[in-house]
Amino acid sequence: MRLLRSTDLALRFLMRLAVAGDSSPTTREVAAGVDVPYTHAAKVVAELQHMGLVDARRGRGGGLSLTEQGRTASVGAVVRAFEGDGDVVDCEGSTPCPLNSACRLRGALRRAQEAFFATLDPLTVTDMVAEPTGPLLLGISRGV
Ligand code: SF4
Repeated sequence: MRLLRSTDLALRFLMRLAVAGDSSPTTREVAAGVDVPYTHAAKVVAELQHMGLVDARRGRGGGLSLTEQGRTASVGAVVRAFEGDGDVVDCEGSTPCPLNSACRLRGALRRAQEAFFATLDPLTVTDMVAEPTGPLLLGISRGV
């Protein structure tokens, strides 16, 4: 199963903000720190704000920070939100699969997809920045 780029970016941004401490980096700084174009970053940040995981303050001294909800957010919940609940295989696309009405594989794939999400459910954003990831992320971001 391959994640959408926006899903991975959302998690990268949350992880970057989880190590920000008292600083409030701008979207541009976060984007540069994880090597992502600004326009792409801005869309993902807007979605994270909408979900209540990131707070954005404008003006001098403003910037991005994690909300408490963002700090304790489940990685599985973030992945589900960005990926949506569609099937991993498109059985009913423009040319529907002839096995569609009685396919055991379809059910097995659905269960595998749910197991994938369930593995990520107990993990939080804060868990993801424990050593060695957090210090590395901070070091990379300082160089920007
Ligand atoms: S074989 Fe089954 S899982 Fe694959 S496309 Fe057809 S209905 Fe879907």
